[in-house]
Amino acid sequence: MPGRILIADDVATNRIVMKVKLSEACYDVLQAGGGRRALEMARAERPDLILLDLMMPDMDGIAVCRKLRADPATAGIPVIMITARRDSAAKMQALKAGADDFLSKPLDDMILLARVRSLLRARETAQELALREGTRRALGFEEAPQGFARQGRVALVAQRREAALAWKTALMPHLPRTRLEVLTRTLALARPEAAMAPDVFVIAADLDRPLAGLSLLSDLRARPATRHASVVMAVEEGARDAAAMALDLGANDLVTAPFDPEEMALRLATQLARKQQADQLRASVKDGLRLAVTDPLTGLFNRRYALPHLARIADRAQDSGRPFAVMLIDLDRFKAINDRHGHAAGDAVLTAMAKRLTRNLRAVDLIARIGGEEFLVVLPETGLAEATATAERLRTRIIATPVPLPGDAGVLTVSASIGLALSEGGDSGVDALLERADRALYAAKAEGRNKVTVSSRPAA
Ligand code: GH3
Ligand code: MG
Ligand code: MG
Repeated sequence: MPGRILIADDVATNRIVMKVKLSEACYDVLQAGGGRRALEMARAERPDLILLDLMMPDMDGIAVCRKLRADPATAGIPVIMITARRDSAAKMQALKAGADDFLSKPLDDMILLARVRSLLRARETAQELALREGTRRALGFEEAPQGFARQGRVALVAQRREAALAWKTALMPHLPRTRLEVLTRTLALARPEAAMAPDVFVIAADLDRPLAGLSLLSDLRARPATRHASVVMAVEEGARDAAAMALDLGANDLVTAPFDPEEMALRLATQLARKQQADQLRASVKDGLRLAVTDPLTGLFNRRYALPHLARIADRAQDSGRPFAVMLIDLDRFKAINDRHGHAAGDAVLTAMAKRLTRNLRAVDLIARIGGEEFLVVLPETGLAEATATAERLRTRIIATPVPLPGDAGVLTVSASIGLALSEGGDSGVDALLERADRALYAAKAEGRNKVTVSSRPAA
């Protein structure tokens, strides 16, 4: 995972020292000798990460960071603020301006590189989600609804329960709208449903044994319900190895114990906002994919899904040597139903038909609405006798029970014609099979409708 990193520092030797470290780790390095230049380069070059000196004569790091965050083109670039100052006022200022982290000079290489890797990884995830959302939009789906953010949940897992309770008490005034709960290691892993899982975990690096917090982090990442949770690792001052390992194992942020509640609250608020935004994107991408392959009226699969799926069933049948069957089902005189009873009545008939088909077929059978009043059914692993019986059963079930019309407009008896074709065994192709089913359907219509016609095998 290489990346392009912009170093902004007014002292050339500082830039060179950092450039050497980062180049050794295979990053591409860009340099800016001042705040204004850094801003220009960020906009023009779109680096993957920025190391920003706090004090620069022309424009300080805080001002640069604010401007980066205010511009949609640069708002997502991770920023690490770097300074010789160690006071918490400077740190809070940097975090409030939108910096992702704050490191003091002299820089600890191990921590710097681990932090860089972690921020780049997070950025990749965010970009991937944004890309998928873009594809969804390009497919014609509307913008993801900005759902109202639910209350954030933060779990606190410390070495001792009293310590976690102390964290909670200290954080509460800073995070009034967040639910803070104290969990043990076991409880943190026990929640099965994602909906109930915390958004953010704060975990002490040392639990019942040294570094047990790191293995808890790995366990959380391995479970579906907590895979996407943010993890903030609390490490002891000076525990460099633990800090670097935590970041490499996927911790989203670090705090040094004993931590400053205000700083911790700010970091938690950032993690909560990111996690909820990512959740929303994931949900909308999933929903978009579902919508892309279903027919909104009946909930059945649409043509876009059905044809590739049919091709896969055909491939599998060829491998296994077992036959499968295809049916085209077309409602009889459907136009007349619309004309006589209205479009809403037509829709009600279509919905009722979809239900009947679903109830009378197996879960492995594919049912799709591929045209106005035309349905495709594919029966995997099915021979001629069974397929014919199934088609007859469907035809009978459709005509046997009249469909209730909307608005107490009585009931309507509906019939359907069915064209049935069996796979050939060879690789004659899905198109030829569908064409035979279509010809059989046409024959059923010609012979008076409400009928099943089986396609004769093509002349060899
Ligand atoms: P046949 O027995 O030969 O199949 O006659 P038909 O009237 O069923 O066939 P035709 O293809 O002439 O008409 C199909 C009608 O289906 C025309 C169209 O208005 C209607 N239709 C297509 N999609 C929908 C829909 O989503 N809702 C409703 N209500 N009607 C639809
Ligand atoms: Mg019809
Ligand atoms: Mg038709």
